[in-house]
Amino acid sequence: MFCLILCGASSIDARQPAAGQSEEDLSIQSFLQAVETAVSTTDGARWRELLSPNADRDAAIEFFDSMIPQGVTRVVVHERDRAPLVGTLPGEGYGLLADVFMETGARGRINTWRLDVRRPRDSTERQPWRLVGQERLAAIEGLHRLSLHPQKQFAARDLVIRSVDFELRLPAGDVFVAETSEGVTALVLIGDGTMVFTPGPAEERGQVRLFAGTETIDTPFTAAYIRINPFELEQQLKGQSVSETQVDNRVFRRAQSIFDEEVDKSFSLDLYDLSRDNWSLLPQVGDFLAEVRTRRFDTLTFARSTGEAEDVTLFHRVRKRNIAAYASEMKLSSRGRFFNEDDLVEYDVLDYSIDATFAPEREWIDGRARLKIRVKSYALAALTLRLAEELSVSSITSDELGRLMFLRVRNQNNIVVNLPSPVERDFELTLNIAYAGRCRTQQIEEESLDVQAGGGRQQRGEEMPFVPPEPNWLFSNRSQWYPQNQVTDYATSTVRFTVPGDHVVIASGVPASGSPTAAPAAGPGQPIRATYTYVASQPLRYLGVVVSRFTRVDAATVALDIVPPRPASPVPAARPSVPPIGSRNTISLVVEANRRQQDRGREIVGTAADILRFYAATIGDVPYDSMTLAMVEHERPGGHSPGYFAVINNPLPATPFVHRNDPASFNNFPEFYVAHELAHQWWGQAVGWKNYHEQWLSEGFAQYFAALYAHGRRGEGTFSDVLRQLRRWAMDQSDQGAVYLGYRLGHIKGDSRVFRALVYNKGASVLHMLRRLVGDEAFFKGIRRYYTENRYKKAGTEDLQRAMEAESGRKLDRFFERWIYQSGLPRIRYSTAVEGQEAIIRFEQIGEVYDVPLTVTLNLGDRSVHEVVAVTEATAEKRIPFSGSLRGIEVNGDNAALGMFERR
Ligand SMILES: [Zn+2]
Repeated sequence: MFCLILCGASSIDARQPAAGQSEEDLSIQSFLQAVETAVSTTDGARWRELLSPNADRDAAIEFFDSMIPQGVTRVVVHERDRAPLVGTLPGEGYGLLADVFMETGARGRINTWRLDVRRPRDSTERQPWRLVGQERLAAIEGLHRLSLHPQKQFAARDLVIRSVDFELRLPAGDVFVAETSEGVTALVLIGDGTMVFTPGPAEERGQVRLFAGTETIDTPFTAAYIRINPFELEQQLKGQSVSETQVDNRVFRRAQSIFDEEVDKSFSLDLYDLSRDNWSLLPQVGDFLAEVRTRRFDTLTFARSTGEAEDVTLFHRVRKRNIAAYASEMKLSSRGRFFNEDDLVEYDVLDYSIDATFAPEREWIDGRARLKIRVKSYALAALTLRLAEELSVSSITSDELGRLMFLRVRNQNNIVVNLPSPVERDFELTLNIAYAGRCRTQQIEEESLDVQAGGGRQQRGEEMPFVPPEPNWLFSNRSQWYPQNQVTDYATSTVRFTVPGDHVVIASGVPASGSPTAAPAAGPGQPIRATYTYVASQPLRYLGVVVSRFTRVDAATVALDIVPPRPASPVPAARPSVPPIGSRNTISLVVEANRRQQDRGREIVGTAADILRFYAATIGDVPYDSMTLAMVEHERPGGHSPGYFAVINNPLPATPFVHRNDPASFNNFPEFYVAHELAHQWWGQAVGWKNYHEQWLSEGFAQYFAALYAHGRRGEGTFSDVLRQLRRWAMDQSDQGAVYLGYRLGHIKGDSRVFRALVYNKGASVLHMLRRLVGDEAFFKGIRRYYTENRYKKAGTEDLQRAMEAESGRKLDRFFERWIYQSGLPRIRYSTAVEGQEAIIRFEQIGEVYDVPLTVTLNLGDRSVHEVVAVTEATAEKRIPFSGSLRGIEVNGDNAALGMFERR
């Protein structure tokens, strides 16, 4: 459960009883004080004094004896929660939930106890409460208070500390240690050493080269902080020269300051008012962390986290960049080459029900979430929910298990919920979470064009004051505005969202009948509010909401043109709410717009309907039964498309920004953005992606389907402009890494255009080449098969490959290997010759062999002949007969293929 807190501190969300202490609060506090005293003195007599005459004394004493460790040195008892005790009059009895923190020297544990207390009616004591029952609900064991040993210093000679593809070499230096009862778990190395990191996978070496200029990092360091399992350290040090020496206080102080700086960054818990000290968990065997102070790169963090699908990472702390992240050989042998993030989750969410109130002026959200989940781990003792750090949780209960203890994991937007006892796989439970806090709008980063500050005055003109955009608040995949699984998780949902009456809510789902309904004002003199209810009966990857002052521009039912698949191959629906593929032949389309965007909204209705019809006919299905386009205002153009709606950013004419040259900007095809966003309903939403590597299956597909729409509706000219731009960006940026690196493309140098150039544009180009390689019929059948097999699921490149192989009868291993998993481009030389009325073109691939479909164009004066040649060997020859007089031969004149093509 704690593998997730490797690089961040987590903290107990310990809450004091409600503000404004009543006499009762004080009396309960003094009861808990008495418990604290009994435990800290391990004095059974004091405990017995707290028992009610009606209590089961044997059970109470046994509880006390079993809970209190030998040699306890410090105890803190905090009330977490209080509920009236069943069968008592008001104020007469409570079930108290208490966090009990116990220190035994440098070891610590936290228990959550339920203590049932009653007050005898005639009691006049200051502390009248007596214990009638007790139970341990949860426990966190194995906490260690780490400190650097001030009396131990070791001299190291030719010391080498290793992890996967990683070495720290210290020819001569000093070593300081932090010990636990299990042995040494933290080291500080001081001295002139060398850090060597040599990633196994070629693509990772490519990323290291972008960062360091070389494929291996071999760099001097002056100090390093290491966390390791004590047993493993012992193994590593066997036979090495490390001997105890006199402590040099000056060197110790330096080690101490490094230790203090690093110790709480990993494996660490912040217990707030239970303890101010630093409490740490031991790394599991195999887990390893090194914070290395290099001369050239500042601090580099190397980590091996055996629980992660990609267990080896290198991180640049100062710039917060992932340099490398991959699976070790050992990990690959256990999980195979590909992984689905869903395979690692503790549970599956079946349904979300969110009831939230949002106050735009304060950007404040008050929410209640109800999650139906099914356990996937064997024996789940704790589960992790994701929720934005700014949102604080006041309670978590389960219909089945009652009130639950939870920890807030800081810096990671995570909440760890402890279950009273482990539950089995397939156990279904319902969690109710109450939360509140500041919730800011999500910026559309990836899906927006790169802009730079424009000429300001010059741009706007003196007489054109800058008009601020109409505000809108978008809460979606990156806001973590509702408690959710750690990865996106297909689930049905109901969203009830209450806002001031002059605002409108658009959310994932179909508006419930009667929505919106009036809701009472937040207070006297406040405006009436409105509650919008959206129900999604088709599973969604995540829930989105956008709030703004919208006017409805249009609403229509769009008739689609879907030819359902032959019933011969029915695909059984996964859930009763999911209609079979192709069974729905309409979609409801709504356009909502900010006041100044209404004209644009009206213009887009027809186009949007046309785009939806085009995609539905091509793919043979529509995954969600309604679509709302929200035309909002923003400084930069962009869009975002969760299930059931899309937000389109419209820059105001007086925007202070001007577009930069961007891979996703298609000036001669203004609907491109809308077409791209609408395609996400199919690609990205209905068919998701198994992990970050596979994002091209969303963005490359959305980009290619927008290009297909351009072709279908605007013809060859527009399509070839689009292809040229896809190709230009893909070619320019291919050396930045493989499409398969996903968000990591451009990440090291902080340029999101690299990401769009490769994940969007190269991804789309690859699909176009695939189509030309296997032919239109196999390609579009393959698309349908891939969609059908993966609807409401996460897909991987290998799923696409299988579908295309099944429809084309062609092996595509090398195609995907070269174009998606690797970063190279083909180099092909060709020569042309004419023999009579036959043109002969000979191709030769220089270097690695690719599968490249190339268009050869014969220019015959009054007309041209185009022929697609699949170049799939080191050499190829094509003979094309012609009639008339041949004026020229062109290769890849349509820009449909990526690569360098040189005439010899
Ligand atoms: Zn997109």
